[in-house]
Amino acid sequence: MRFTPRNVRSRLTLWYVLVLASLLALYAGVASLFLFLSLREDFDQNLLQDLEIVEGMLAKEPNGLVSLHSSHLDAAEPRIGHFIEVWSPDGGLLYRSATLQNQALGGPPGRDEGLHDSTPSTARLQNGTRVRLASGVYNIEDQRVVVRVAYNEERLWRELGEFGQVLLLSFPIAVLLAGFGGYALARKALAPIDSMAVQTKKISADKLGERLAIENSEDELGKLGTVFNAMLGRLQAAFDQLRRFTSDASHELRTPLTAIRSVGEVALQDQRSPAEYRDVIGSMLEEVDRLTRLAESLLALSRADAGHVQLQREDIGLLRLAEEASSVVEVLAEEKRQQIDIAGNANLLVSVDRLILRQAIVNLLDNAIKYSPAGSQILVRVKSGGERQIFLEVIDQGPGIPSEHQPHVFDRFFRVDKARTREWGGAGLGLSITRWAVEIHGGEITLESEEGKGSTFRVSLPLVKDSSTSPSKGGS
Ligand code: ADP
Repeated sequence: MRFTPRNVRSRLTLWYVLVLASLLALYAGVASLFLFLSLREDFDQNLLQDLEIVEGMLAKEPNGLVSLHSSHLDAAEPRIGHFIEVWSPDGGLLYRSATLQNQALGGPPGRDEGLHDSTPSTARLQNGTRVRLASGVYNIEDQRVVVRVAYNEERLWRELGEFGQVLLLSFPIAVLLAGFGGYALARKALAPIDSMAVQTKKISADKLGERLAIENSEDELGKLGTVFNAMLGRLQAAFDQLRRFTSDASHELRTPLTAIRSVGEVALQDQRSPAEYRDVIGSMLEEVDRLTRLAESLLALSRADAGHVQLQREDIGLLRLAEEASSVVEVLAEEKRQQIDIAGNANLLVSVDRLILRQAIVNLLDNAIKYSPAGSQILVRVKSGGERQIFLEVIDQGPGIPSEHQPHVFDRFFRVDKARTREWGGAGLGLSITRWAVEIHGGEITLESEEGKGSTFRVSLPLVKDSSTSPSKGGS
């Protein structure tokens, strides 16, 4: 089973300790190796020097053997310490120092021993003692001899062992201390996350106005907090919008329902003539119409919000689309003796979803008819806005929209005069649907209006093609 600590703090500490321990182990290994090599270097150099000294002290005995020069014997052998053997090239032992206690420094010499390479090598005595051994070939008077000098290497190994022990003892202590230090550091560094978690737990849907406290907005956690706060802001705005939308929608739905109910209740109170009942049913149907339109608008907006609308684009002349829209509202304009004039370049093509954009223009014309006085003129103008743009303007001679309300006319459920406009059937959704329809086609809609001087809604859309520059005129 894999062991993975549950919290980041412990994981960080564990990683930190693992990395540190590996580094320490590597360091200890490399340091020991260097220590060993440098101690042995000294060792070998002394050994080679001693080989020369021993050579100078050798003297030939009358019996053919060799001895160390008597005047140096006492002093020299203990100083050099060590183990000395002298051999004749044919394998006769000529001298062996007493310190060797009759143990051999490795048998009779080979043919090449000490001739070319005097680099010391490591050997073992019979009693297991590790020695460092150097050999050289010399002449004593007329006799050729192989001299071997060896140092006891045990001290070197002992020193190294002690060094290793110190390292081994201090290693767990160092790792333990590093672990505690690392844990404390990780704890301190991650403390803001804990406090963020505590604060975040307290934020619920009805407390979206709360924000995380940020100590330093420049560090990573500060940036995380800032991003989180920004997300809360967006959520709050979306929630507020949703809440407003729901309460506005239910309010709008309730009004016609209340009207239907009260008209019905009043009608049921007394016996009435068939004509009166027809009237009552007529006004009920009016309210039902209103409800139907409202439900359709709400459906259009919720589809738009959900992003489920697939545009069926086709290239179409914007002027032609304006004529189609105008024919939809023609009857309403005629009722008010208003005239809709359509003018502009018929060759300017846009690539749009015919039904959606036509509804957008219908909404604009419907408003112009609703809010302008009887007998007034409404002008729809299509004109080029340079190489890439095309404008459609709906200009009326209505009351205009006060400048303080202009920024809100495209908001959902916004009506300048709530009481009055309801009579004409508006729920304040027409312009928001129009704006959505224009924007989903990559365009935008603006309003120019002055109180008492009429309004101009200008839609700009991306131009697809201008098949000719000659202007054409139409009307309905
Ligand atoms: P409604 O369904 O109430 O017409 P809209 O979203 O279409 O809703 O319009 C929002 C409000 O903007 C309307 O209630 C009206 O007060 C104002 N408005 C829209 N068009 C015009 C216009 N052409 N002239 C004057 N006021 C207008």
